[in-house]
Amino acid sequence: MDQQIVRKLTAIVGEKHALTEFEDRYCYSFDSTFINAMPDLVLQPGSRDEIAAVCRVAYEHDIPVVTRGAATGLSGGAVPVKGGIVLEMTRLNHIIEINTVNRYAIVEPGIVTQNYLAAVDQAGLFYPPDPASSKMATLGGNISECAGGPHGVKYGITRNYVLGLEVVLADGSIVQTGNLVDGDMSGPDWTMLFCGSEGTLGVITKIMLKLTQKPQAKQTMMAIFDRIEDAATTVSTMMASGVIPTTLEIMDNSTIRAVENFLNIGLPVEAGAILLIEVDGDPKAVEKHVQHVMKVCQDCKALTVKAAKTTKEADALWKARRSVSPACGKINPTKISEDATVPRSRIPEMVAAVREIAEKYKLKMVIFGHAGDGNLHPNILSNKHDKEEMARVSKAVEELFQAALKLGGTLSGEHGIGYLKAPFLVWELGEEGFQFGKDVKQAVDPKCLLNPGKMFDYRAS
Ligand SMILES: Cc1cc2nc3c(=O)[nH]c(=O)nc-3n(C[C@H](O)[C@H](O)[C@H](O)COP(=O)(O)OP(=O)(O)OC[C@H]3O[C@@H](n4cnc5c(N)ncnc54)[C@H](O)[C@@H]3O)c2cc1C
Repeated sequence: MDQQIVRKLTAIVGEKHALTEFEDRYCYSFDSTFINAMPDLVLQPGSRDEIAAVCRVAYEHDIPVVTRGAATGLSGGAVPVKGGIVLEMTRLNHIIEINTVNRYAIVEPGIVTQNYLAAVDQAGLFYPPDPASSKMATLGGNISECAGGPHGVKYGITRNYVLGLEVVLADGSIVQTGNLVDGDMSGPDWTMLFCGSEGTLGVITKIMLKLTQKPQAKQTMMAIFDRIEDAATTVSTMMASGVIPTTLEIMDNSTIRAVENFLNIGLPVEAGAILLIEVDGDPKAVEKHVQHVMKVCQDCKALTVKAAKTTKEADALWKARRSVSPACGKINPTKISEDATVPRSRIPEMVAAVREIAEKYKLKMVIFGHAGDGNLHPNILSNKHDKEEMARVSKAVEELFQAALKLGGTLSGEHGIGYLKAPFLVWELGEEGFQFGKDVKQAVDPKCLLNPGKMFDYRAS
């Protein structure tokens, strides 16, 4: 990058917040996937106006701008595949307001999700979207990827809680979408245009979020199955049975073994699969729902169903679920985390397809995730330095996508399209749908400077 432009940009954020050295920039060359690419410059702006000024300069000189939260993304979204500026958002990390009367919050995008969840909890309210990465990820990243989480089964995902956004566009102009009224109908829902847009349409600088009531009681259960097929049938039966659990997470045998090896907490390592199930609500309803859930599990051939007797027991089960990623990382260094998702009634077929693909390509694949949402998270445990294995991984991933689409599902239940899934987006949207996405991108970001090479900017070569 031209040194005069570097000086201009440095003057906007201050010298301390402009990183030009190779070793500093290198730290911003990857996210939580296995790909990486070097940025020319890293900027850590401290305000919306600094971001707008940076975008104006970038626009004038045709420089790509890649917004980055905590880089926990699993589709390559924050990797600067075309170089340019990485804009790190973590200095914008304040809660501006939590309004308990009207039940909303206004926050900056760089706040770590867990810190926000804790503040909302302290205010006596509840914000349900809870990605397993909440201790690291930022709310800006959650909104840009439309993050899901275990609570998604009952409460929905991030998009169901975003009331409005402030966004800096590619040329530095600032727009506000939505407002603090849930049910704003003044024109199209522009907020949803940016929710899930993965930094390709604008830089989110302020977020308005809906809050809800805290459940009075909850109960965690673990159902143990001999065969994963029975666990999969339980999920679809449960969802059709009239009681929607708060969470319905699955772990297959390989996942159980990996976590047990990592935590040593007495998980049933011989089981074909376990389901972690939580119900919440008012105490009487919770009692009734526990009985209902246990009966469905037993009818679907669960070996045992245990209810956690103490908060400590429940916490241990959730710790097991949250530890899946590091535990699998210990088995093989490159964990390729897919989130192709299918309608709940097709879960048993998707489980069968995943197992068939793993066998066909002789790959270590584990299944865990938000089964209640149809999101099974087939993860391939591989080694990116083994070229022959990675070629098999590529083919397996393509077949996973095909299987999910054939069952009426989607390429991504929550991790987004980013760089890694961009070549396949047309499979889901069709040629005309994909072109429509390209036209929208062209209209909002005519020079294609915001996160280029991703999503609709993918060009088959
Ligand atoms: C161990 C682990 C567990 C995970 N579990 C879940 C899970 O349960 N559910 C789930 O949905 N995801 C999960 N993820 C994926 C990831 O954590 C989410 O996608 C998360 O929302 C990304 O947040 P981030 O701050 O790290 O964003 P980044 O990775 O930094 O960025 C993600 C995308 O958002 C864009 N972006 C970031 N901030 C902004 C902004 N302010 N304005 C515009 N664009 C922006 C970036 O350009 C990029 O395209 C997991 C990841 C890991 C590593």
